[in-house]
Amino acid sequence: LSSEYPAEVDLPAPKDLKPSYDVVIIGGGGHGLATAYYLSKYHGVTNVAVLEKSYLGGGNTARNTAVIRSNYLTSEGVKFYAESVRMFKELSNEFDFNIMYSERGQLTLAHTDATVRAFRQRAEVNKHFGGRTEMIDRQQIRELVPTLNMDPGHLPVLAGLWHIDGATARHDAVAWGYAKQAAKRGVEIHQLTEVQDFVVENGRIKAVKTNRGTVQCGCAVQAIAGASSLLMNKLGIRAPIHTYPLQAMVTQPFKPFLDPLVSSSALHCYVQQTGRGEVVIGGGSDPYPLYNTRSTLELKEGLLAHAIEMFPFLANARLMRQWAGMTDMTPDYSPIMGRSPIDNYYLDAGWGTWGFKSTPICGKTMAELVASGGKTPALIAPFALERFSTFQQVNEMGATAASH
Ligand code: FAD
Repeated sequence: LSSEYPAEVDLPAPKDLKPSYDVVIIGGGGHGLATAYYLSKYHGVTNVAVLEKSYLGGGNTARNTAVIRSNYLTSEGVKFYAESVRMFKELSNEFDFNIMYSERGQLTLAHTDATVRAFRQRAEVNKHFGGRTEMIDRQQIRELVPTLNMDPGHLPVLAGLWHIDGATARHDAVAWGYAKQAAKRGVEIHQLTEVQDFVVENGRIKAVKTNRGTVQCGCAVQAIAGASSLLMNKLGIRAPIHTYPLQAMVTQPFKPFLDPLVSSSALHCYVQQTGRGEVVIGGGSDPYPLYNTRSTLELKEGLLAHAIEMFPFLANARLMRQWAGMTDMTPDYSPIMGRSPIDNYYLDAGWGTWGFKSTPICGKTMAELVASGGKTPALIAPFALERFSTFQQVNEMGATAASH
């Protein structure tokens, strides 16, 4: 690892850490960088350091399958993700840097009557909040995806949930775009800088202790995805997070054959073709909690069997890469955002398998929270940590692309 940034990013050369910052953001993934960008852009807060233990955007931001959509199940979820999708559409212009936003539409397959009923409800909730989601029948599915096997094994396709706003974007470019624009406004980004502990005085964070020394801060934001509980534990903050590896894989490139993103939660599998022609295949999390990013043969065999049921010609495909990230799963499949029991320590956590699509709106709302000194924006109020003790969970389990 080097402390240099990737050539494409063209950031100012790394500096020494200052003794103190107004805001320290822990984690240089999409969420942390977006928070820094919106703090500097909308609130004029620029005495900010983003501290990243590894390299810029090398965590789950670099490992996800880049699906962007807003067809969630709850009113809170739909409103939040819809705003993120709207912001994503503008990002290339805003950055003057191509994030390769590609609107493909997302198709989720129903294989049972119960799923058809659940999809009807989801379509209606989406429409009610201005989303573009509708039920389609077998014939419409055939026309959208002619290469799809309509009767995979014992699970014939009965209907589909069609979400025309489904899209992908180049995930690295999202992190780099935010980093470039934040740095331009004076934010410092420090790679190879791990936050290892805290100095807490009178219930407030006074400083963060890093592998490069202690840095004082006015407040701190935690945006560290699959490591959330590790730092929360240091502060005695309890949250119902369990961390599971999530794997994905990609085949050799093919001529374009698949425009929409296609997923089936019954088959625990989703498939999409990238602009380069490769087929990205994702599925459910590993069945045991673990802090590790290794790939396994079991997952590869199981997931590919389902992908081949959906698209039989993939049996002849060669697999090029397989990888994993660590995902912080919450009981209701919604994030934990907002204030924490420590007065000036803010949480952007519990992002499980669904947090890439929310990168812009997380950055914007976290920046608002920090700049206002802790006034929670309405859009993220339902995701507060307290919901687990007040029994107000925001259950999005039925809206995941694959069962986890
Ligand atoms: P990250 O990008 O992980 O950034 C956190 C950073 O914090 C990391 O770079 C890490 O090195 C750093 N860090 C950790 N601890 C410390 C410390 N102590 N000090 C300093 N730095 C630290 N979401 C979707 O919306 N759509 C998808 O299609 C999708 N597919 C996925 C597929 C896979 C295989 C995986 C693993 C995840 C997927 N996700 C998806 C989830 C998504 O990737 C994450 O929710 C999202 O990227 C989280 O962004 P982040 O910026 O919070 O985290």
